[in-house]
Amino acid sequence: MSFDLKSLVAARMGENYELHSQHLNPTLVQVQRTIGFDRVYVRAKGAYLYDAEGNDYLDFLSGYSVFNVGRNHPVVTQALRDALDLDLPNMVQMDCSLMSGLLGEALLKKTPAHLDAVFFCNSGTEAVEGALKFARAATGRPRIVSLHGSYHGLSYGSLSVTGSESFQEGFGPFLADTEFVRLGDLNALQATLAMGDVAALIVEPVQGKGVNYPLDDYFQRAQALCRKYGTLLICDEVQTGLGRTGKWFAFQHWDLEPDIVTMAKTLSGGYVPCGAIVTRRSIYQRTFSRLDRCVVHSSTFGRNNLAMTCALATLTVLEDEKLVENSAAMGELLMTCLRRLQAKHPFIKEVRGKGLMIAIEFHEPPQFKGKLAWRLMHKIDESLFPQLVVVPMLSKHRILTQVAGHHMDVIKILPPLTIGRVEVDRFVRALDETLTECTSLSGPIMELAINTAKVQFGGRPNAQRPRANGKNGRPAVNGHKNGHANGHGVNGNGHTNGHAKNGHAVTAERK
Ligand code: PMP
Repeated sequence: MSFDLKSLVAARMGENYELHSQHLNPTLVQVQRTIGFDRVYVRAKGAYLYDAEGNDYLDFLSGYSVFNVGRNHPVVTQALRDALDLDLPNMVQMDCSLMSGLLGEALLKKTPAHLDAVFFCNSGTEAVEGALKFARAATGRPRIVSLHGSYHGLSYGSLSVTGSESFQEGFGPFLADTEFVRLGDLNALQATLAMGDVAALIVEPVQGKGVNYPLDDYFQRAQALCRKYGTLLICDEVQTGLGRTGKWFAFQHWDLEPDIVTMAKTLSGGYVPCGAIVTRRSIYQRTFSRLDRCVVHSSTFGRNNLAMTCALATLTVLEDEKLVENSAAMGELLMTCLRRLQAKHPFIKEVRGKGLMIAIEFHEPPQFKGKLAWRLMHKIDESLFPQLVVVPMLSKHRILTQVAGHHMDVIKILPPLTIGRVEVDRFVRALDETLTECTSLSGPIMELAINTAKVQFGGRPNAQRPRANGKNGRPAVNGHKNGHANGHGVNGNGHTNGHAKNGHAVTAERK
């Protein structure tokens, strides 16, 4: 056989980081090596990743909420195999495929009745791009309003409505006629909508960055203002949709009636990218308004059979295994356990979230000892503290988590919706231990903090040692032992910035 994937993988597994350094993004590799995230995972199942030695890693990141049904779910895997075996005609383009029709039917059964038309695309960003175009076409208005702190994607349209400077830096100018208001500020929203030229307000019902959401009736009032001034409401459910927050869609927590909903991530089943825009038929038809505009918004791969298959199988698994209900139940359990930890660890300011989208926010504790540790860490680097939690959670406890955003003392967890008590207990125990080390100014946490300080103030970090699970005898750096291994700091965008002159710690993620 000229191409044998299994042999190729067996022969080259372990070269991952060298290959990426050479051919892809060495900056990313540098970050991963620095924080000790340069693991080689060789297998994945459900809520777990495995290395070559068979160690299990609990995945509380879920590929940024791609794996709501867990990794390599047998039903989705089998569906993909079946789709391949059927030799289905794929992307004929000048036809209407069965699979996209079936997925349209299945998805619209999950959304409220007023949303009765669907458009398929390849990613969350693409879904947002399409939603903005649909809104402009439907209203004939130019402006789009978004919220500060939001994340909607990184292409020009979606980035223009992403309210995070860290992502926009260096890429301007952006789409004209976009504007940001603060979550909760109804006066500002009213003032801008009253101008009568706003096509849409786009919101994440729960913001991915920082896991922020209103505790009051802000969303309902914002929706009422949209109605009053003829503005469409877009709910970006790319991260929050399909059970993540304990309901099928997060807008259901506030009984909202959005005009357009975007989704992606979990629709892929963790295999084949798939995005969707769901909207009212009346809005949809304003884009595809004439025969010569029947494909005026489209994408070559948008309705491909493998993506449609994955999404169909995934919707079935979410339903059959009652994963939306499990997300609500396990989310409750986790938050109860974490709030108990809060009583023990004054570093914890707040535990918030919906379903299995949970943030743990830290702050300076009132006690002398904790205060000292907190101040020291923030003096070294204002973004360091959550890193000092996330790093040992992986290196010591083999649990993958993420920092929730730039300049935030927040970590975020997004476990697969399949988790049970075992996974909840493992996470809570590990966090308990990690925070105890933070307070006592001991252990790997302080080692990382001290090494970071040494690098930033001109010293040298401890000597490098080979990565525990490296292969082929190639040395690699383990983050918690070596701090900023190459003597370069990395700012919050994951870009190297020389000698950490911006004072930002390395950071794992913030989408
Ligand atoms: N919108 C939201 C709310 C998201 O969380 C993301 C991804 N993190 C996107 C849009 C962009 O999706 P993608 O990465 O699939 O393009």
